[in-house]
Amino acid sequence: MRLTRYFMPILKENPKEAEIVSHRLMLRAGMIRQQSQGIYSWLPLGKRVLDKVCAIIREEQDRAGALEIMMPTIQSSDLWIESGRYNDYGAEMLRIKDRQDRAMLFGPTNEEMVTDIFRSYIKSYKSLPLNLYHIQWKFRDEIRPRFGTMRSREFLMKDAYSFDLTKEDAIHSYNRMFAAYLRTFSRMGLRAIPMRADTGPIGGNHSHEFIILADTGESEVFSHKDFVNFEIPGIDTDFNDVDALKAIFDKWTSVYAATSEMHDEAAFNAIPEADRMSARGIEVGHIFYFGTKYSEPMGAKVQGPDGKEHLIHGGSYGIGPTRLVPAIIEASHDENGIIWPASVAPFDVVVINMKPGDEACDRICETLYGGLTTVGKDVLYDDTDERAGTKFATADLIGVPVQVIVGPRSAAGGEVEVKDRKTGQRETLTVEAAMNRLA
Ligand code: ATP
Ligand code: MG
Ligand code: MG
Ligand code: MG
Repeated sequence: MRLTRYFMPILKENPKEAEIVSHRLMLRAGMIRQQSQGIYSWLPLGKRVLDKVCAIIREEQDRAGALEIMMPTIQSSDLWIESGRYNDYGAEMLRIKDRQDRAMLFGPTNEEMVTDIFRSYIKSYKSLPLNLYHIQWKFRDEIRPRFGTMRSREFLMKDAYSFDLTKEDAIHSYNRMFAAYLRTFSRMGLRAIPMRADTGPIGGNHSHEFIILADTGESEVFSHKDFVNFEIPGIDTDFNDVDALKAIFDKWTSVYAATSEMHDEAAFNAIPEADRMSARGIEVGHIFYFGTKYSEPMGAKVQGPDGKEHLIHGGSYGIGPTRLVPAIIEASHDENGIIWPASVAPFDVVVINMKPGDEACDRICETLYGGLTTVGKDVLYDDTDERAGTKFATADLIGVPVQVIVGPRSAAGGEVEVKDRKTGQRETLTVEAAMNRLA
């Protein structure tokens, strides 16, 4: 991508409305634009990151055996009346009337709709287990939308829904998502801690929030320090191996971790003081086993091996991609801007032409831009006429992991400078060596 042809509206000044660093940097880097309170457009740079985040989520959901579908944003109130949640949901639900005066709503979540799909087609235990997910816009009329896309009213959610014959099978489905979430967040350079969450009237030990530690987080969290050393499930994890997945779950829930709602002061104080961690955190995911909460009112049943009808046991599993983007920035930035982990970076490399019009600079930049693009790298080519200082500031702000600086003096000798955004380390290399290094 040539920067002269790109749309990346960089802000020089710090936007006043932004209270936290991720919001500030997303606005300054031209990633998002607020359209009305808590409702955002994603501009090209932001959209690239969001797509990479979604791609990782998708890969890990698929690996864990979930199947992608796509349900609509607009739902009829009928299913919600059937489940009993239409009135309970309250003011967070955006209710809409269509031209026939029918009560519609912009979905805040999809348990009802997916249960309707399930009951319409699945009649036998032989079709189980089943896990269906989608990545779709949600609307919740939050009382206090804030921090940019961290807490917005319209936001993207990956929501998966599992269906099983028995509670035991449902717990295995839960453990699959548990392991998939550990992998998902880790691939984005985040260390997410699963914390016991409130299960409300359903009870049990089977709801976990995945929390990223960050000073600007809205949740207060208490945990054991050991999480830092726990191993993330590998790419070779067998998601059909019941015992292996239970072992992962057991390991990751073996030490204390809770948000303030579930905090047990006595249990926390039993941990040696040096191992205690109390901090703030951001909820990036939430998984839930809820048994027959929806299958019962909505009549989602299958025939079991005994020939009888059984209510299915369900779970739901959410991740917030439009919250993850700022959460990654909260975890990875410095005073000059964003530092993207390579896996979600909008571009792999930025090639900075210090003197467009200079024969050697132009030639080397075109060679690098063309060559790296050909081997499948996402390359941003800064071919603008901006001052050197502005170019460096922009490259640092947008956080592309590697910068290749092509200035007239070194270009004349066939050399370029390669800078690592994170460490700031610079190295002078021949064009060929730089090509080999980055390809
Ligand atoms: P919160 O406690 O932050 O209000 P929640 O518990 O209401 O979130 P869930 O219903 O568990 O959210 O939804 C699953 C995921 O969707 C959350 O873990 C979060 O990543 C994301 N999410 C929820 N609400 C928002 C929002 N207003 N803006 C952005 N992402 C959100
Ligand atoms: Mg909420
Ligand atoms: Mg919550
Ligand atoms: Mg939640």
